Parts: sequence; C-alpha cells; structure tokens
Amino acid sequence: MTTYVIQFTYVAAAALFILSLKWLGHPTTARRGVRVGELGMALAIVGTLLHTEIVSYQWILVGFVLGSAIGLPLAVFMPMTHVPQRTALSHAFGALAAALVGTSEYYLRSGELSTFTMAVLSVEVILGFLTFTGSLMAFGKLQDLVPSRPIVYPGQNAVNLSLLAAAVGCAVYLVRNPGSSALFPVVAGLSLLFGVLLLIPIGGADMPTVIALLNSYAGLSAAAMGFLLDNNLLIVAGALDGSSGFILSVIMCRAMNRSFTNVLFGGFGQVRVAAGAVEQRSARSATAEDAAAILEAASSVIIIPGYGMAVAQAQHKVRELYDALTRRGVDVKFAIHPVAGRMPGHMNVLLAEADIPYDRLVEMEEINPEFPRADVSLVIGANDVTNPAARHDKASPIYGMPILDVDKARTVMVIKRSMSPGFAGIDNELYYMEKTMMLFGDAKHFVGELVKEMTGARLGA
Ligand code: NDP
Repeated sequence: MTTYVIQFTYVAAAALFILSLKWLGHPTTARRGVRVGELGMALAIVGTLLHTEIVSYQWILVGFVLGSAIGLPLAVFMPMTHVPQRTALSHAFGALAAALVGTSEYYLRSGELSTFTMAVLSVEVILGFLTFTGSLMAFGKLQDLVPSRPIVYPGQNAVNLSLLAAAVGCAVYLVRNPGSSALFPVVAGLSLLFGVLLLIPIGGADMPTVIALLNSYAGLSAAAMGFLLDNNLLIVAGALDGSSGFILSVIMCRAMNRSFTNVLFGGFGQVRVAAGAVEQRSARSATAEDAAAILEAASSVIIIPGYGMAVAQAQHKVRELYDALTRRGVDVKFAIHPVAGRMPGHMNVLLAEADIPYDRLVEMEEINPEFPRADVSLVIGANDVTNPAARHDKASPIYGMPILDVDKARTVMVIKRSMSPGFAGIDNELYYMEKTMMLFGDAKHFVGELVKEMTGARLGA
C-alpha cells in the first residue's frame, strides 16, 4: 500500500514540476508556477519520507532545521539585484549534496557496484564536484570576492581540457575496476579543480549564462543520483532541471549572438582598449525640464529599461513616470530585450515588483516594428541592447546581436550617468545621433526629476 502512495506522490510531484515550468514561462502565470512548484516539492518530500528504508528521521530533522536556517534568510534578505549570486550558491549546495551522496554510495557499496551503477555514480560525482566549485567561483565573481574580470593565459583551454580528460579517464578506469578505491579521491579532486579553472577565464557579466549551464550540470548530476538510488522522481526532476538550464543558456547565448564556446572560452569582457581609433564625436545633453516638455507633448512613448535601472533600483520611480504619462493620455509601453540586465527576466521581475501592468511589457520581436511610429524612445540604464552597431558594424563585438530598434523613434532620450560603455565595453553610436538627448544622472534620481517636472507642470497647468 505504502509503495502505491509513494509512487502516486512521485507521479503527482513530477506533473506539478512540469506545470510549474510551463507557468513560470510567462509573467502573468509565474506566481502560480512558483506555488505549484513548491507544492510538487512538498509532495516529493512527503513521498520520500514514507520510504521504509529511511534510517533516521532525527538526522533528517536536523538537516531540515539547518537548511531552513540558511535558506530562509537567503530568500528574505537577498536583494533582487543579487539573485544571480543566490542562484549560484543554491546550485553549489545542491551539487555538493549530489556529489557527497555519490561518494558515500561508492564507499558503502564498493564491491557490489555494477558497471552501469559505477558509470552513473562517476557522472554524478564529476558533475557534482565541478558544479560545486564552479558555482562557488561564480558566486565569488558576482559578489566581487574574487576578481570578476576574465583571467586568461596562453594554453588555458588545453590545460582545462586535459584536466577534464584526466578526470574522465580515471572515472572510466574506476568503472571497469570499481575496487581501485585509491582513484576515487583523484576523480573528486580533479573535478573540484576543473570547476575552479573553468570559471577563471569567464568575466563577471557572463556569469548568468554560466550559472544557467551549471544549473544544467547540477540537474544532470541529480538525475544520475536518481539512477544510483533507484528513485524515479530524482531522475525526472534532475532531467527537467538539466534540460531547462541548458535551454535557458542556449536562449541567452542566442540573444547575445554568441556561441557556447565563446562564453566558456572567449574571455569576453576583458579590458577592451577602444577598438579602432575613437573619433571625437559630440553628444547633446539636456535637462529634466527639456525632456519632460517633450514627453508631455508625445502621444506614444516606449521605455527601454536596462541594467542601470536595476542597479539604481529605479523601478518604482519608473512606475510613477508611467502613471504621470498615462494620466496625460500618453500610450506607454516597455520594450523588453531578452538579455537586458544581468539575468534572464531581470526587467520583467523589477517592473512586476513596481506593479507595472504585464500587458505593457512587450518582447523585442513585437515591439521593434512599433519604434518608427513612436514619438519617444526613453532608454533607462540600457546600453548594449540599444546599440545600432549590432545591425551594421561587422567589426563590432556585438555585431549580429538582436537589438531593440530604439534609434527609429522620432526622439531618443537616454538616461545614464556618463558616456561609459555597458557590459560589452564598446561605445554606443546611438548617443551621437542628432535626435538623441543624453540625460546624465543616476536613473532613480533623474526619473524622479522627470516626474517632479511633469506633476509640477500638471498642477500648474
Ligand atoms: P549594459 O550593461 O549594456 O549597460 C548598462 C548601462 O547602465 C551602462 O552603460 C551604465 O552607464 C548605466 N548605468 C549603470 N548604473 C546606472 C545608474 N545608477 N543610473 C543610470 N544608469 C546607470 O546593460 P543592458 O541592459 O543594455 O545590456 C545587458 C548586457 O549584459 C548585454 O551586453 C548582455 O549581453 C549582457 N548580459 C546579459 C545577461 C542576461 O541574462 N540579461 C547575461 C550575460 C550578459 P553609466 O555607467 O554611464 O551610468
């Protein structure tokens, strides 16, 4: 009877995980997706606890209390802009757990491990340990605990690949000779080292893509653990995690028009001393008063949020601006680039936090045809995702990256603090166009000034 109940909870949990992933794919259903995912996880835990071979409930309780004591403050106190770091840490812990389960199973069951079991155990341990150190490095880079710039040296890829080949070679030997226990710590050690070296040449800003990839490795490691422990739910959940992490990293690479190899081995984000001769061009700066006057006269405005809006935490001021404009009958939409900010969905999360209606958030493919009809493109802390060079300058590092056609609106306004480049480290020709007004200042402060101008003018009107 218990077996049927367990199997039922597992099937129900797997179905809920799939629904959760589906609903997480859209802002309007994302909250439901989170709740359904939580319910699935709760069912999975209940099903697991019903197992007859549970050795000690006391130790499970200790783990539960300890995990909650770490997890709860992480979830509550970590600011929204630190979500990539938080995700990296949870992958590190998850992967370490999978690797340690594999390690204990190896030593507990040595002598009775079949070739298949030993093979999945090796996959679990290699992926688990390399994801553990790789994710810790990603966390360190994003948190500036280790230098976030890419560290590259000649022959780096050869060194890394040899290290991985050595770990895999030892694992293959272990699969054939499971009794050679002296080799097990070598496999673990090489995997741990590989995780660190894999991340060293990757720049801090590429970390979200790498974290999605590490997520995928952690999922595959968990799926291997499912085979090892003969647990179907772990296989399903691990496979879902592995494939969704992989798909996410592919989407991110595509949106940046970069290949996996370029992200992993390209050293992107190294100090890029101005490519080519920098011609002296001048940009036109304007005040909040000038900008507010144009915005008030507009009938359609497209707001383009980017990383700078996230850093400045300007989303609530942006909401006030949205209200001020819509009250005047201006049609306001938000153009969402898939890699604006530093993680997928970054802008959606921030704008949702500020209660901006979901139907005002428009994806790149849909909004691009609307720019030529818009009166104003208002860029708030976005840079690379608006750079027209991506369309025509073959020498540009972002050539081919799909961008928002911000330059096609009648007037372009850009809020940023200086002429400094964005993540790709290159100048943006948008800033030198005749129709562009540069609004220099911190995004939160400047948008606040715009709101003051507009509401002040309205009251005075
Ligand atoms: P960018 O990094 O291109 O530019 C951000 C701009 O924000 C900077 O030019 C900066 O200019 C400005 N800024 C910073 N702080 C503030 C502030 N307080 N107030 C106002 N402006 C500020 O951001 P985008 O969002 O346009 O592009 C994202 C980039 O990140 C892309 O190149 C993408 O490929 C990359 N990336 C994105 C990932 C994702 O998943 N979203 C993953 C990996 C990479 P200034 O200093 O002058 O203020």
